[in-house]
Amino acid sequence: MKKLLRQFLKLFVIGSLALITCCQPEQSSYSVSDFIKVPKIDAHFHYFTLDPAYMDYVTSLNFKILSINVDSGYPVDEQLNISEQILQDHRETYAFLGTFSVENFGQPDFSSSIIDRINECMNRGASGIKIWKNIGMELQETNGRYVMADNPAFEPVFKHMEEKRIPLLAHLGEPRNCWLPLNEMTVAGDQSYYKNHPQYHMYLHPEMPSYEDQINARDNLLERYPDMIFIGAHLGSLEWNVDELAKRLDKFPNFNVDMAARVGHLRNQSIEDWDRVRTFMIKYQDRLLYATDLSVNDLNPVDFKSKTESIYNHWMNDWMYLATDTTINKVKGLKLPRGVIDKIYYKNAEFLFHEN
Ligand SMILES: [Zn+2]
Repeated sequence: MKKLLRQFLKLFVIGSLALITCCQPEQSSYSVSDFIKVPKIDAHFHYFTLDPAYMDYVTSLNFKILSINVDSGYPVDEQLNISEQILQDHRETYAFLGTFSVENFGQPDFSSSIIDRINECMNRGASGIKIWKNIGMELQETNGRYVMADNPAFEPVFKHMEEKRIPLLAHLGEPRNCWLPLNEMTVAGDQSYYKNHPQYHMYLHPEMPSYEDQINARDNLLERYPDMIFIGAHLGSLEWNVDELAKRLDKFPNFNVDMAARVGHLRNQSIEDWDRVRTFMIKYQDRLLYATDLSVNDLNPVDFKSKTESIYNHWMNDWMYLATDTTINKVKGLKLPRGVIDKIYYKNAEFLFHEN
């Protein structure tokens, strides 16, 4: 009798546990109005103005900014000066990634001068280093061959970054649309970008490295430097298919991606298969960073009110898509659980770009 009772109790306990695990409601989600309350980081922003009004504005929305220096546009020294200056007054709400120029490729001190430059950036407050698509798409050897990111000339550089645990943000390659004719591109933003930048529209330059060449060069880096803190910008140029991106995230445990300027590609895929995108975001919640590629700078000064309005709209649209189930232009929001949103919006960036 005692034994029977024990067995009954045991079954009862197991049964209740099963009930608790199977029927627990999914962690609740945020609402539209929570946007202001939740701390957020835009992990890919180009902030190049000394006008403090913009920092005040983003801070009022509970955003922090990771500003990215890039080997394009402003001279890289000037970018570093501006970033260092902004950092001095906004240590709590602003961080930046430095970069280096590749113009001395082929010189005997090429890699050692880049390492010096990286160290200088870090000493002056950078939280990591960014490399850009000019590696793979512009830089050429004297024989005309394109220099890819896995070129031996960069080996000492990446070894150094791996050893010193200096995070690398790598914008390598382009969205796959770049290799398609304009009318076959899946996103309007890509169409207008390549229309205006034909030099980067690879469909027009079949002699240049292919999409696969770009992805392979990047994957080679992940393979060779497994301890590098590696963030692939723009969904790692695998924006067109979350399953392809998932394969790389599974294969390379040190691979993380920001979603700068590629949330549209996620939206597209979620029109086709909402569950697939949502499941992907939840599965890889530790490896994804919210980011936009928005910019403010003094080169093209614009009216403060309209600029901040467009920043707000961009951030808010993304929030409604990621955090809520609001439907905008036929795209239903993913309504990701709070814990996932917290990671994507700030915890992952804080973890990867540890305070320097
Ligand atoms: Zn960018």
